[in-house]
Amino acid sequence: MPARPAASRSASPAVPAVMAAGDLGQLFSALTTRGYQVIGPTVRDGAVVYDAVDGPDALAAGWGDEQAPGSYRLVRRRDGAIFGHRSGPTGWKRFFWPPELRLWQARRMEDGFRVEAEPAADPPRRALLGVRPCQLHGLLRLDRVVAGGPYPDPRYRAARERAFIVAVNCTEAGGTCFCASMGTGPAATAGYDLALTELVTDGAHRFLVEAGSEAGRAVLSGVPHRQAEKDEVAAARVLLQKAAEAMGRRLDAGGVKELLYEKFEADHWDRVAERCLACANCTSVCPTCFCTTVTDATDLAGGRAERRRRWDSCFSVDFSYIHGGPVRASVKSRYRQWLTHKLATWHDQFGTSGCVGCGQCITWCPVGIDLTAEVRALRAGGERGNGV
Ligand code: SF4
Ligand code: SF4
Repeated sequence: MPARPAASRSASPAVPAVMAAGDLGQLFSALTTRGYQVIGPTVRDGAVVYDAVDGPDALAAGWGDEQAPGSYRLVRRRDGAIFGHRSGPTGWKRFFWPPELRLWQARRMEDGFRVEAEPAADPPRRALLGVRPCQLHGLLRLDRVVAGGPYPDPRYRAARERAFIVAVNCTEAGGTCFCASMGTGPAATAGYDLALTELVTDGAHRFLVEAGSEAGRAVLSGVPHRQAEKDEVAAARVLLQKAAEAMGRRLDAGGVKELLYEKFEADHWDRVAERCLACANCTSVCPTCFCTTVTDATDLAGGRAERRRRWDSCFSVDFSYIHGGPVRASVKSRYRQWLTHKLATWHDQFGTSGCVGCGQCITWCPVGIDLTAEVRALRAGGERGNGV
């Protein structure tokens, strides 16, 4: 578990503050003067990605997105909303659980060899600005997997302990979201230092701000703000309620664990395998997928060797390689493993679902496979998914 667990970062019952959108730069200043590098949503290669941003001008302001199964498109917004887009493909886990990391290297010495472990200390202090509630739940679940238990990852843990989280509540539903049915959105309830709700109404552009930790209150004290009026709190509540109601998808999580165990041999897995390309996009964009592999390499001169850890996926054949061959050689077995782990065995291992309803695996699946439709199809008898 991180040093500042979710319980120390829960929603404050105090009246929220209001910060003018024009004062967002002051929030940047308050964070950078405390030594944080700000990571936020920015536009690159036709998508909203999360990267270092040096001020509000670098944010993906004025952009929205249209997301559907197998489809993502940026669109210009007319209202100038700064956080008017949904989750993007790169996610936040990479800042704590990087796609590739050298674990150690060994050098040949005159009297043998010396092993040098990569230091875990002093990762950057990062402020993540614009974390959607579903993605925040993703981080909290990753905490349990990677930083909990008897063998916590020291690098992950150190980076998480030093991070500052600015969540942004979702006032609009994205095209593939289903967080409302998973209990993970559209409002953040825990795990943040500050939570913003963007209000672009009545010709005014402002943020409702809630502090969820002492660190959050300290940063907020350095930013111009006032107490929220009752109608501003009510307006935010209405927007969040509408976002929850407008979500076009839902996953009926009741009994889904038992369903998946029961349907282990269903014909339906063959139908999914006819469409699935085993490309691993879904695991790459998923905020909770954590599987890795390690590779060892040496230079050809024999003077140096190193071990690297890389993201891997249960969709790759080699991932299940055990002496003599892979135990999940078919695409059918790999898709079944992924979905069953997300929605069933994750409960047995970690006490929660492995899915937070962000919908990113649906958006970025090149053939538009939709896990909510697959679960519906399995419930209906295991005939077909995606309504076909
Ligand atoms: S399985 Fe899909 S919807 Fe669920 S958390 Fe992962 S990417 Fe999001
Ligand atoms: S479900 Fe979609 S994204 Fe995932 S491996 Fe199959 S084709 Fe790729």
